[in-house]
Amino acid sequence: MNGDQKIDEAIVDWDAPDDGLASQSISLRSTHFDDVYFSGDGPAETAHVFLHGNDLPARFDTPHFHIGELGFGTGLNFLAAWDAWRKAKKPSGATLHFFSIEAFPLSRADMARAHQAWPGLADLSARLRDRLPPRHPGFHQINLDERVTLTLFYGAAHDGLSRAEGKFDAWFLDGFSPAKNPQMWSSDLFAEMARLSRVHASFATFTVAGDVRRALESAGFSWEKRPGFGRKKHMLAGRLESPAENAHPAPWFAPQACTIEPGARIAIIGAGIAGASLANALTKAGFNPSVYDANGPASGASGNPAGLIMPRLDADDTPAGRFHVSAYFYTLQLLAALNVPSLFNACGATQYAMNANEGERHKKFIARPALPPGWMVPVQEGLSFPQAGVVDPSAFVHVLLGTTPILRERVSRLFQTDNGWRVISDKSDVEFDAVIIANGLDALRFADARTLPLSGSAGQIDWFADSDAPATAHVFGPYAAPAPSGGVVIGATYAPIAIGAETRFTAEATQSNIAAVARTLPALAAKLDPSRATPRASVRCTTPDQMPVVGAVPDWGFYAGAYDGLRTGRRVGHTHFYPPAQSRPGLFILTALGSRGLVTAPYAAAILAAEITGAPMPADRAVIEAVHPARFFVRDLKRSGTP
Ligand code: SAM
Repeated sequence: MNGDQKIDEAIVDWDAPDDGLASQSISLRSTHFDDVYFSGDGPAETAHVFLHGNDLPARFDTPHFHIGELGFGTGLNFLAAWDAWRKAKKPSGATLHFFSIEAFPLSRADMARAHQAWPGLADLSARLRDRLPPRHPGFHQINLDERVTLTLFYGAAHDGLSRAEGKFDAWFLDGFSPAKNPQMWSSDLFAEMARLSRVHASFATFTVAGDVRRALESAGFSWEKRPGFGRKKHMLAGRLESPAENAHPAPWFAPQACTIEPGARIAIIGAGIAGASLANALTKAGFNPSVYDANGPASGASGNPAGLIMPRLDADDTPAGRFHVSAYFYTLQLLAALNVPSLFNACGATQYAMNANEGERHKKFIARPALPPGWMVPVQEGLSFPQAGVVDPSAFVHVLLGTTPILRERVSRLFQTDNGWRVISDKSDVEFDAVIIANGLDALRFADARTLPLSGSAGQIDWFADSDAPATAHVFGPYAAPAPSGGVVIGATYAPIAIGAETRFTAEATQSNIAAVARTLPALAAKLDPSRATPRASVRCTTPDQMPVVGAVPDWGFYAGAYDGLRTGRRVGHTHFYPPAQSRPGLFILTALGSRGLVTAPYAAAILAAEITGAPMPADRAVIEAVHPARFFVRDLKRSGTP
């Protein structure tokens, strides 16, 4: 895998003049592959080959339908599937998830020109173009409406499939013709497709090439010839006959089949940015969440008067770096989709190079590049991020919570039952189908989370409501940023705090915040009068590797027994197979967001929602493993055997 790989735009020829006239029939040819994106009437071909070939829309009558595609191109197949799905009879709360892979994304202008030809899809295609992810390698997930999600992988087909997680119902195989583009039709690729398929998942494709049929067969797919479209005599349709052998390279991180049915009642413990992001993601996924928080929404760090939305970059391509960049893109598109005025001020952010080392690191970000063109601009001070900005954290939490019921109760215990979990608080005892622990450091109150190496760090910010706000956010270790409701917010301090201890703001911390600003922005600091500060202190929850904890709560007893061999270095191999991981059924966790929760919580919630529904993950395997709740346990086991 190479997250540094550059994503080039598709170079295309239009064989028909751009006369602005809507015509179903356009001819769009890839210069690189010397092949056409579709032949003749695109929508009719899509309906015949890909929709009917997968017996759609008849099969849309199910709660969660997941389609995988090889070759996103103009997005026509996706738009047609979305259109058919929105018109289909289906259960209430049903969702459609479409995952597609594209190595050479079309420019927005070329896409718009193609979309002109399909006026029946105009509302959907406009929304797609509006939300298209930036041209950056890897996984991008975008919300197109309450129930429709698109995950796009920008990169090569085999790379995308081998790094993906999810269970698919249908596949659209739409690479260019096998003769011109054999990489899109290999048996290795189809083996990954089988790994990602539900049993009896279907596929359809326009080609009947013998090599393709044999490669599909070798991966466990059966096929039949059906009448082709237009001048093509035949096309192929088929299905996976039996589940693929699925030896996970790290069985302790293997995802488990989901057992939570749509409509399930899910308790979320904690109404900060983590709980609110989960409430939003789970409602979109068709569940009924309720949120417990004794202090009400946004009472912790999520209640600060301003929060930065900006990327955390790594000098190298690492899972942690990919997590943070994807989270940044994800949260920006979510804020755009929520479209609530005054929630987000896209004022940009400038990150200062505070010393020679940081200057060198910035050069590496540019050389990689760590962000796509236009997303990171070298400036005198360091780097500027034009799309970054400042969010109103409390408003963000409230918008994400929407109409989710909030119970102002302190949950003290969780009891597993035959059907789910009893959530016992100071005021009630209610049974839910599933529970998600999302209450920061307080997660340690629950027996199943107690072994996690969570720690606390107290932080104070200061808000000067009547000071002039800077035009952009300035980040120099600490930060100074315009507050959405006016004035400037500066911060934050860092101080270790014992588990269970309360944190309070202090005048010393206010002085220390002003002094930190004065070292870099003396003119701004000079106008900050400590007696006019509104201080706020809260606790961040962190882990030793500074990454959050996201996923099903491991069955620690099972882990201890099943993976004990890791202590002595026994690896997965020909002589020994470790069993796949087991977790506590219906118990999940999302915590340890550190000081970046406003950027990372929505993305972490999307990862967890995908795990619960079996939907395509918005992240690659290595990223999922980098936030996995069992990672510390597994690392400790591996280390404990090392002399
Ligand atoms: N489904 C598309 C639509 O609805 O417009 C048309 C797909 S077009 C026939 C094939 C697409 O596959 C092109 O967009 C091309 O850039 C992409 N592609 C070709 N080789 C690829 C590869 N190895 N990995 C990923 N994408 C590839």
